[in-house]
Amino acid sequence: MSALMPTYARSALEFERGEGAWLITADGERYLDFGAGIAVNALGHAHPALVAALVEQAGKLWHTSNLYRIGAQERLAERLCAVTFADLVFFANSGAEAMECAIKLARKYQASRGQNKRYRVITFEGAFHGRTLAMLAAGGKPEHLEGFGPAVEGFDQVPMGDGDAVERAIGDDTAAILIEPVQGEGGVQVAPRDFVALLRALCDRHGLMLIFDEVQTGLGRTGRLFAYEWLDVEPDIMAIAKALGGGFPVGACLARADVGAVMAPGSHGSTFGGNPLAMAVANAVLDVILEPGFLEHVREAGLHIKQKLAAIADAYPGVVELVRGEGLLLGLKCGVPNGDLLKALAKEKMLAVPAADNVVRLLPPLIVGNEEIDEACVRLERACAGLSGNA
Ligand SMILES: *Cc1c(COP(=O)(O)O)cnc(C)c1O
Repeated sequence: MSALMPTYARSALEFERGEGAWLITADGERYLDFGAGIAVNALGHAHPALVAALVEQAGKLWHTSNLYRIGAQERLAERLCAVTFADLVFFANSGAEAMECAIKLARKYQASRGQNKRYRVITFEGAFHGRTLAMLAAGGKPEHLEGFGPAVEGFDQVPMGDGDAVERAIGDDTAAILIEPVQGEGGVQVAPRDFVALLRALCDRHGLMLIFDEVQTGLGRTGRLFAYEWLDVEPDIMAIAKALGGGFPVGACLARADVGAVMAPGSHGSTFGGNPLAMAVANAVLDVILEPGFLEHVREAGLHIKQKLAAIADAYPGVVELVRGEGLLLGLKCGVPNGDLLKALAKEKMLAVPAADNVVRLLPPLIVGNEEIDEACVRLERACAGLSGNA
């Protein structure tokens, strides 16, 4: 019996080590990892540069608290600002915490301008922003909120892509609009370009903060450093996390100068946020992702796999109804229960991740090679053949 709270329906699989896009059990069985720890292991497993950065820092200093300057934290913040819309950064330990900071910042920004009544945030159906009490309310999923008492006040959910509904939802008490450029957990739903442009225009017209949750899409996953670069629209505030530490827990909230500046000593904080270990690894992740050609590789790999997946969907339309997504954030909308396809894939020793709307998500590490993509598609095709009775 396990002493763990039963918060996950875990597979019986356990891995002992990893190498790039592969996970290896204690018995030496090799699995092709197209889940990457839910878009976390962007550089695959045991990337030499990340291992070296972590080991080197581990021998020097782990933690001092934010009562003291942390050079690597300042450096990472500057680097993130240099490659984004942002001017100021707060470091946290997870996506949900980065999002909490984003919401607090939007409210505080309004309050700092004498708009104390502006605290509500418009969110979208299918959204996922994390599991803290406020982020449950932001996500608005009844099954996530059930049994946890009254939902945190101040979130208004509207259908994705419905501009009229957004306009109707904007009131005197609205502070911000929050959207994932691509919904990950929601089933790999890409936010329409025109819609996000409309959100930007509405925010400008009504003095609202536009917040992007790029916890899953950020750091190269979609083939651009951040997914908002596909949209020609900049947010005022952005949360990132998953890939930022390549497997080491770290998150960050980025903001424009005048927005981030509303925080003061005591406004917000985190004991562990931005500690030297996390910063050493995240700087090393950024070194690799910012290397010339890295994002091109992600875009090329994304095109390569998308073409192959389209052929599989054509051959097995009863199993894979359609393929969607951007870069290496891909969703297979299933004609069979998505859990059945995941099980069939696991039998082929390939790992993927479920999502809402009966979707199987493919999230290979961004360093994935074409041979690994080809191998994954062979395994996927065998799984589809089995499920469609053509094995
Ligand atoms: C995973 C995720 C979160 C939550 O991140 P945690 O690190 O689990 O708290 C928030 N937003 C999005 C879009 C995510 O994919």
